[in-house]
Amino acid sequence: SKIKEVEFVKSSIRAKDCPRDTRPEFAMLGRSNVGKSSLINALCRKKEVALTSKKPGKTQLINHFLVNKGWYIVDLPGYGHDPALQRFANAPEAARMDWSAFTKGYFLNRETLVAVLLLIDASVPPQKIDLDCANWLGRNNTPITFVFTKCDKMKGGKGKRPDENIRDFQEAMRQNYPEHPPWIMTSSSTGLGRDELLLHMSQLRNY
Ligand code: GDP
Repeated sequence: SKIKEVEFVKSSIRAKDCPRDTRPEFAMLGRSNVGKSSLINALCRKKEVALTSKKPGKTQLINHFLVNKGWYIVDLPGYGHDPALQRFANAPEAARMDWSAFTKGYFLNRETLVAVLLLIDASVPPQKIDLDCANWLGRNNTPITFVFTKCDKMKGGKGKRPDENIRDFQEAMRQNYPEHPPWIMTSSSTGLGRDELLLHMSQLRNY
C-alpha cells in the first residue's frame, strides 16, 4: 500500500470536467484548515503535491492526483472558512450545503469514487458543519471514512483532548449512522495513522 509515485493530473471546475477514467479514487474533504494539505503531504511524502492544490485559484477546484498509476487522490475544496461561503455559516443545512453545488455534482455522479475521506479536526469539539456534511453524504449513500486530524494536539486546561472530541463526534453521529463508518486517527506531525490509512484505502480498492 506504499505510495511510490504521485502525478498531478488536472484541476476541474465541475464533475463533468474530471478525468474520464475507470481507475478508482478517494476524495479528501474537510473544513478549511483541517489539515488536508498536511495530510496529503504526509501520505505522499511529497511537499509539491498538496502545494499544487494550495496555489491561488486551485483551492476552489477539484484536483486529481494519480498515485502509482493505479488510483487517484482527489483534493476537494475546503468548506467553512471561505469568505464566499461564510454567509452560509448560519443558514439552514440545505442552504449551507449549496456551497458544494458543484462538488455535490461530483459526489452524486462520480462512478469511480470509492469513498470520501472526511477530515475532522480532533483538536476541537464536534462542529455542526462537519456533522451536516457527514449527514448529507450519508443520505446520498456516499461511503465515508472519518479521518480525524491533529490527534497529536493535547489540550490542557478547559479544552478537551482529541480522544474526547472524537468520542463526542461519534456520539453525535450515532443518531444518524446506526452503523458507524470506519474511522482513523491521524497526525501529520507524528505520522500517526499514515500506514493505517494507506492500508485502509488499499483494502477498499480491492473489494
Ligand atoms: P488545510 O487548509 O486543510 O489544507 O490545512 P493545512 O494542512 O494547511 O493545515 C492547517 C494548519 O494546521 C497548519 O497551521 C498546520 O501546520 C496545522 N496542522 C496540520 N496538520 C496538523 C497535525 O497533524 N498536527 C498539528 N498539531 N497541526 C497540524
